[in-house]
Amino acid sequence: MTGTETPAFLKYEKRDNVAWIRLDRPRYANTQNYRLLNQLDDLFKRAMEDDDVRVIVLGAEGKHFSAGHDLGTPDQDRDMPRERVHLWGDHLTKEGAESQYVLEQDAYLGFCRRWAEIPKPTIAMVQGACIAGGLMLAMICDMIVASEDAFFQDPVVRMGVPGVEYCAHMFELPTRIAREFMFLGSKLSARRAYDLGMVNRVVPREKMEEEVATIAAQITQQPSFGLTLTKQALNLIEDLAGKRTAMDSIFHMHHLAHAHNTLVSGSLTGGMDARIMAKANKTAAG
Ligand code: ZN
Repeated sequence: MTGTETPAFLKYEKRDNVAWIRLDRPRYANTQNYRLLNQLDDLFKRAMEDDDVRVIVLGAEGKHFSAGHDLGTPDQDRDMPRERVHLWGDHLTKEGAESQYVLEQDAYLGFCRRWAEIPKPTIAMVQGACIAGGLMLAMICDMIVASEDAFFQDPVVRMGVPGVEYCAHMFELPTRIAREFMFLGSKLSARRAYDLGMVNRVVPREKMEEEVATIAAQITQQPSFGLTLTKQALNLIEDLAGKRTAMDSIFHMHHLAHAHNTLVSGSLTGGMDARIMAKANKTAAG
């Protein structure tokens, strides 16, 4: 690789009619920069276009599934040009609140919606930390298998922001628990998430891939068009229950918060960087 090439932030493997996509930035707890998200979109597209692939698994290398969006690694790329997938403008040529708005419409809300609607079943395979932006990648999947050491956390209220950009918490958790989850920014253990119906299985870390492979193999026996229609039906029911409209509204509150933070502190996140957040996350009750 020369110095100008973009590194591969993910891995792709096809095995027994299943595409295994893995985030591959374990050194930075698989935090997501924009290039990683674009590469993930490319790999979902690859899995989608391959008729041999009947189920897609999204996992991650290393100790953690994903610690969220990249708030400050050496590969942070907020100010780099990026290829847009939806018909939104270039964030680098926009001023004020519009810059982050068009960026997040395309790369966060837009990508997550597009991935939640992939007409093949998807399974998230989650170990360790699944924080903020990490939740977005788990929640766009149809099923979630977690290891015993996994935990879920959305601490962005600390940044003055009402949840992540693709905020499905109220549809994933009972209302009291969703409020607790966000107000406290505390860790939700895999076991408690299972008890609340947010994840499908909790298994020892070393058994997780085997468990996911077993579930995926069973799904591959079903007719693919039947699976597509079933997924569309389930997504439709969620949308009829208000999920899409609610998430649109929350996205706009999220951007009011970014704009407010910028006016008050000059920072989208109210001055909360990766280091401050990591420290606060560790001490949040859970
Ligand atoms: Zn945001």
